[in-house]
Amino acid sequence: MADALNLQLISYKDLNDNTVHFEFKILDGQKLELVAGQFIRLLFEQDGQEVFRSYSVASILKSNTGTIDTIELAVSWVKGGLATVGLSAMKVGDVIKASAPYGRFCLTDNKLKRYFLVATGTGVTPYRAMTNELMMRIKRDNAEVFVIMGARDESGLLYANEFRQNAEELDNYHYVSCVSRVKLDNPSEFNREGHVQSYLETLKFDAENDVAYLCGNPAMVDDAFGLLKEAGMPVPQIRREKYVSPPVRKKKAAFVIK
Ligand SMILES: Cc1cc2nc3c(=O)[nH]c(=O)nc-3n(C[C@H](O)[C@H](O)[C@H](O)COP(=O)(O)OP(=O)(O)OC[C@H]3O[C@@H](n4cnc5c(N)ncnc54)[C@H](O)[C@@H]3O)c2cc1C
Repeated sequence: MADALNLQLISYKDLNDNTVHFEFKILDGQKLELVAGQFIRLLFEQDGQEVFRSYSVASILKSNTGTIDTIELAVSWVKGGLATVGLSAMKVGDVIKASAPYGRFCLTDNKLKRYFLVATGTGVTPYRAMTNELMMRIKRDNAEVFVIMGARDESGLLYANEFRQNAEELDNYHYVSCVSRVKLDNPSEFNREGHVQSYLETLKFDAENDVAYLCGNPAMVDDAFGLLKEAGMPVPQIRREKYVSPPVRKKKAAFVIK
């Protein structure tokens, strides 16, 4: 069951020209219990109706689950978008209504050997939330984790320093960056040119021990899904979350008496 929450903006900072990292405090003494990978809904008003937009929780949880009293989000602006206009006008101290938690884009209890966590844009935030759990699974299960991040250029590789730091700390944690619009001086296995799909094409998958998570741009998610399926990954082992807005609700036609 989702809880209704009041969130007060406590800080924000630019991650790049188009993306902002927000931190909200949950008011009224409430805390949110959630699983890494879940999302919240922020509520806005449009034509007198309450409408929502979904955002993955970026906060790094203690383990696979966590109880938090602040919520971190990464939001990319969409020109003229309802949430974009609303959120970009918020000042520290302002309050917004929300509900949470939602979603099943989460790690399962299955003991797997390899995790391929693929993202574009803010789609990488669920993997940030999963950090501690993934590190634990690497140590406990001797698992291997690949965070595969696609962006146009380096500025779009959100939280890259943190992911690279994780890769420094543990041999079996890999951060694979794929930039599609720039030439790199020294491309390498984990620092690549091209789309995430072109990295996936280089891999051999093991249907018994691998799982893939795809999050972000719907075209990337569809493309990568097709590619993984073709490469023999069983469909239940390909988890997907597409970042789209809900369809616009049709206004009820007014009854006109002639
Ligand atoms: C489960 C889930 C989790 C999500 N998590 C995040 C998250 O963590 N961070 C985040 O930034 N977003 C996330 N999204 C997307 C988010 O919910 C909104 O769709 C997004 O912020 C745009 O909302 P908006 O109200 O500003 O624009 P809207 O008013 O919805 O859109 C305005 C116009 O822009 C178009 N449009 C919408 N999105 C895009 C786009 N990406 N590129 C180009 N055109 C677009 C629409 O079709 C519309 O014509 C998530 C979506 C889902 C379903």
